Amino acid sequence: MAPLLILALYTGALLLFILTLLCGENELFARTPLPKMHYLLTEGAGSGIASLARRCCGQRGPALLATVAELCCERSNPAVQVLFLALLGSCLWAYCRFIFPLLPLPGIPSWHKATGAAAALLCLSFFLLASFSDPGTITPANVSAHLALYPWDGLLYEQKECWTCSLSRPARSKHCATCNRCVAKLDHHCIWLNNCVGLANMRWFLAFLISTAAVCAYGAALGLAVLRADLAEQDSWNTAFLHPDTGEVVYLADSWRFVLAYLSARYGPQLALTFFTAAAGWIVTGFLGYQLYLICAGLTTAEVHKRRVLASSLALAQEAQGVEQRVQRALAGGDGSGGTGSTSAGTATLVLGRGGGARPDPRAGSGGLQQPRTQVQPLLQPAALPNFYDRGLRRNLAEILFPRHHLRAAATAAGGGTQKAD
Ligand SMILES: [Zn+2]
Ligand SMILES: [Zn+2]
Repeated sequence: MAPLLILALYTGALLLFILTLLCGENELFARTPLPKMHYLLTEGAGSGIASLARRCCGQRGPALLATVAELCCERSNPAVQVLFLALLGSCLWAYCRFIFPLLPLPGIPSWHKATGAAAALLCLSFFLLASFSDPGTITPANVSAHLALYPWDGLLYEQKECWTCSLSRPARSKHCATCNRCVAKLDHHCIWLNNCVGLANMRWFLAFLISTAAVCAYGAALGLAVLRADLAEQDSWNTAFLHPDTGEVVYLADSWRFVLAYLSARYGPQLALTFFTAAAGWIVTGFLGYQLYLICAGLTTAEVHKRRVLASSLALAQEAQGVEQRVQRALAGGDGSGGTGSTSAGTATLVLGRGGGARPDPRAGSGGLQQPRTQVQPLLQPAALPNFYDRGLRRNLAEILFPRHHLRAAATAAGGGTQKAD
């Protein structure tokens, strides 16, 4: 029953983590703790670290943190790439040192040594492919083909030139300030890869995420199975122990505290490895789920941000329009003159400033400033904005898996069959 309970808790926590990341900002969950949890996992984590730095190092802490963040995240450098390689290499070494020597065990054959090492190497291969492949750099030779792939929607993208590259900027492309280049269908600049993730290497990035999530899940499951099998083989569950404090005879099954204390003392490295790979698996799987959701919805991370900014601007404009209407009604009812009849918020402000005595009485009936709130439009959510680049699940996936084929097809269809597409 205990392993099932652990599995249920693990699955529940994983689903909650993914749901929070994906839907934490959705209005459907506005009355639940999900928005707060989403904030804590995203912006809140950064604020918390800055606050901790301020407590530990005073005012110099946040400044130092900002410098480190700028060096690691906003300038091209391999520091985080090296960190990933060190983590992967350390985990593989630790499995070879502490877990694999326990094999074979009943129900766990020794071929897990080979498959475990192969899974880590596969993960490394996809990491290198995603890190060193071209993400879809826009050059004078291929800009025409990229311009043919996606039309400007007039909402998020319109015809313009990149000031830095001096090239026409195709729809869905973006200039990466870290790499100093325009990248087609730029999703984001990944500090783990020290490379942009764009049209041409998104498939390798997904393969990297899938292989990392799989190798973490495999490592955690293998660690748990090895601990369980070794405990059973040593007959530890039926072995009597003397309690160090009370001197009583106790069994492991008597309490979870005994189990954890015994595991920590006898299988410390194995337990730490199992927990580490499980925690890493949670995080990577959550991020993978978010990327898959974006692909299904025909969006990129950069577009999600742009749509959020656009929706906020439109919501503010709507709110301003409502305020303007209320002010005009208040002017019309407050000074008894029928108002100016103007439809401009600027004019309304001017009238208020010029005639201080014309300010309406808040106690007045229909002319009160607090009255006609009901006429304000509902605020816009990013999901309410149209997405012209969502071409259906099959096409969205096909563009990720075969980007160069779609690029060539778009260039040919636009009459540029001889244009270079890559
Ligand atoms: Zn550029
Ligand atoms: Zn970049």
